[in-house]
Amino acid sequence: MIDDRPHVLHPQYDVVVAGGGPAGLGAAMAARNAGAERVLVVDREAEAGGILLQCIHSGFGLHHLGEELTGPEYAQRILENALDDGVDVLTNAYLLDIDNDQNLKLLSADHGVAILDTKATVLAMGARERTRAAIRIPGGRPAGIFTAGAAQRLVNLNGVLPGRRVVILGSGDIGLIMARRLTLEGVEVAGVFELMPHANGLSRNIVQCLHDFDIPLHLSTTVVEIHGRNRIDKVTVAPVDEHLNPVLSKAWEIPCDTLLVSVGLIPENELSRELRLRLDPTTSGPIVSSTMETSRDGVFACGNVVHIHDLVDFVSAEAELAGGHAGRFASGVRSPHDNVRLQPSTNVAYCVPHTVTTDQPHTVYMRVRKPLEKSVLRLRDAEGAVVHERRLRYVVPAEMVTLKLRPGVLEGFQGDALHVEVVPR
Ligand SMILES: Cc1cc2nc3c(=O)[nH]c(=O)nc-3n(C[C@H](O)[C@H](O)[C@H](O)COP(=O)(O)OP(=O)(O)OC[C@H]3O[C@@H](n4cnc5c(N)ncnc54)[C@H](O)[C@@H]3O)c2cc1C
Repeated sequence: MIDDRPHVLHPQYDVVVAGGGPAGLGAAMAARNAGAERVLVVDREAEAGGILLQCIHSGFGLHHLGEELTGPEYAQRILENALDDGVDVLTNAYLLDIDNDQNLKLLSADHGVAILDTKATVLAMGARERTRAAIRIPGGRPAGIFTAGAAQRLVNLNGVLPGRRVVILGSGDIGLIMARRLTLEGVEVAGVFELMPHANGLSRNIVQCLHDFDIPLHLSTTVVEIHGRNRIDKVTVAPVDEHLNPVLSKAWEIPCDTLLVSVGLIPENELSRELRLRLDPTTSGPIVSSTMETSRDGVFACGNVVHIHDLVDFVSAEAELAGGHAGRFASGVRSPHDNVRLQPSTNVAYCVPHTVTTDQPHTVYMRVRKPLEKSVLRLRDAEGAVVHERRLRYVVPAEMVTLKLRPGVLEGFQGDALHVEVVPR
């Protein structure tokens, strides 16, 4: 859906949101609902909606809306709601810079270079894919090597097939979804190859995208060389040992004209770095408080720019929180500071938010490092005493673990840090 109303840019906004994906649109609506008068969403693409616009499969909105929608349907729903709520959406516009006084510089197809003043900002720039260069596969540079998301865009938005016989490196969700999508389009998918001993996508995608279409998944295996002069004509794959080093004596070749690389997403944090925000080295996103405020007052963040989410529903929930607090900040309301730091400990890669209060309910998202059957999530104090625990049926790195801290759970806790672990029961 394109918002074709003429845009008038105002020099002063209450809240400006960078990025018009589900995170940005959700945050903008929440800011309006929290009382912000003038809210602007800026997106560099021709249409708002973010990555959802190219995800034409269903599976979006089950938790948040109680309905199963396709990506473009979900995007259209939230864009319509945002426009109805009085949010301004400016597309074909790139947010270039934010200075210490919350002056924003943007480059817009309609307005040229514009400087805006805002009381609060929400960063919702999403994430981009890691490329072949990030994992340094040896070989030449023939045509036919794509990221899975680029191939998805070609097939779903441009109606073009990337090739006829495809090898997919990496078992992230985008690669799995493209394995099914290309098979449905008559492309032969020779297999999905995953370096780790476990898959990196959601279990439902392994079943629905690979098992249902008899596409082989090779765990602990990677592409070690790319062959071809003008166009890729084969790849060499090899199993890896327990240190993830390829065992070249067991390598084999697979003829193909296309290699899709699906090896993870990286939050788009150029603006966050400009702002000198404190970043978490594990997520590569900003460190955020329980109100989704970054290390800079009045700058909030949500969605994939903070950490990579598996489901858009969690993005929407986080966006409501960030946008609501940004709206209140613009009206002069300051939330009390958090008093407890969440410290990832055994088998926990990260926790978001990074800090919480003891007297409010919170939802904490985290990822484990290793899969476990029958495990337990524990919060421990500095002396090792268990403050709270919850049993988990199973955990895998590909699926975010959600911990709901209800009021009273941390009542009486006196320390300033809680160690978060997920260990066998
Ligand atoms: C291939 C794929 C399949 C998925 N499948 C599912 C699924 O089945 N079910 C599900 O629930 N979730 C799914 N997801 C996850 C979900 O789509 C994402 O978690 C969600 O889109 C992230 O929202 P976001 O708003 O943070 O980022 P995005 O959707 O990436 O939006 C960010 C926006 O910011 C804009 N932007 C960035 N920088 C700037 C700047 N400086 N100035 C202006 N604009 C900027 C970008 O153009 C983009 O429009 C899938 C994701 C992918 C990639």
